[in-house]
Amino acid sequence: MKEIITEIKNRIFKAAASCGRNPENIRIVAVTKTVPAERIRKAIESGIQIIGESYIQDAREKYPLLFSNDVSWHFIGHLQTNKAKYAVKMFDLIHTVDSYKLAVELDAQAKKINKIQQILIQVNIGKEKSKSGITEETTFDLLRKISGLNNLFIKGLMVIPPFFDDPERTRPYFADTKILRDRIKRFLDSEDIQNIRMDELSMGMSGDFEAAIEEGATLVRIGTGIFGERE
Ligand SMILES: *Cc1c(COP(=O)(O)O)cnc(C)c1O
Repeated sequence: MKEIITEIKNRIFKAAASCGRNPENIRIVAVTKTVPAERIRKAIESGIQIIGESYIQDAREKYPLLFSNDVSWHFIGHLQTNKAKYAVKMFDLIHTVDSYKLAVELDAQAKKINKIQQILIQVNIGKEKSKSGITEETTFDLLRKISGLNNLFIKGLMVIPPFFDDPERTRPYFADTKILRDRIKRFLDSEDIQNIRMDELSMGMSGDFEAAIEEGATLVRIGTGIFGERE
């Protein structure tokens, strides 16, 4: 496990160096769906600091076993409104907010436990019918509305682009995400909107994280690259 993680860190370092970015601005989210707690523990002992869970039920089982102040928990799956109360208790960052309704519920639940919940907005950058996420065009409107919710803080965007074996075919979607992010930054400057900073771009997985880094990713979500093929 340690060698695998060291190897991934080296690849991140090289990808960052190749485009003049500081590798410290790129963090690994170890994607742990279907991975048992014992193996996650090994990953943590080998230097993983962020766990990415996709299912609330699984997270509720693993969280008490693995909780520690050195590990941050991120939610990367589709979140149902009725699970928001569990999500705000466990996760430092929720990557997949894609509706005002969900945001309102997260805000209400965060308020109950006196928390400012950090979130990302999930954008369906490839406009795929099968995928969650809002369209680029509705992003500005949603940001404006969510900025009125005082117990949420928007940290950036998350995308799951169409899948290709060749990461060069995914690259344009990463590039489009960064362009959108930069447009949002200018929009924020012009409207003086609160509770938003567009610092994080969650994009890139095991097969394409280097291309994602070269296009600006700050959070790369890596599952099989760390834990091997899922059952
Ligand atoms: C499963 C998953 C990943 C990790 O995919 P790998 O190809 O195993 O690295 C990343 N992001 C999301 C949202 C996922 O569901």
